[in-house]
Amino acid sequence: MPDNFSTGINFDSQSSVKKAAEKAVKTTVKTTALRLLPGADVRRELENLAKLEQISAAVILGAVGSLSQTNLRFAGQDEHTALAGKQEILTLSGMLSVAGVHLHMSVSNAQGECRGGHVVYGCLVYTTLEIAIALIPHLEFQRTFDAATGFKELKIVPNNSFPES
Ligand SMILES: [Zn+2]
Repeated sequence: MPDNFSTGINFDSQSSVKKAAEKAVKTTVKTTALRLLPGADVRRELENLAKLEQISAAVILGAVGSLSQTNLRFAGQDEHTALAGKQEILTLSGMLSVAGVHLHMSVSNAQGECRGGHVVYGCLVYTTLEIAIALIPHLEFQRTFDAATGFKELKIVPNNSFPES
């Protein structure tokens, strides 16, 4: 297995792969959907949702909406950039858990020009934000510091509190 392939599951042991695969097959995918209201901070609300609902692991399936204020961190930048004017949210993707969220977004302005990047605090809903989320209850997304990147990165482990059958 290449070093850069990290699932959090111990692939050295064939039995743990099999166990994880069997667990995954048995899992019924649970989904939920929500609408964020005007003024809501996208990142903060999704962090709150994960904590409130004790989400072990989840992925955003899709989202549409608009922003009155937009703060994105562009690729390779340390600081975020505030975008002028209202924006349409074209895509919002990411992973959520009680350990934290990792969100990326692409938006377009009044001229239809697109920008995109890492979602930081300060992305405020203008009219609405409709989001569908898939829960992955048999996994746990942890966030641990990775010296190689200097960021807290995703660590995927089996969710021990998930029922066996
Ligand atoms: Zn990112």
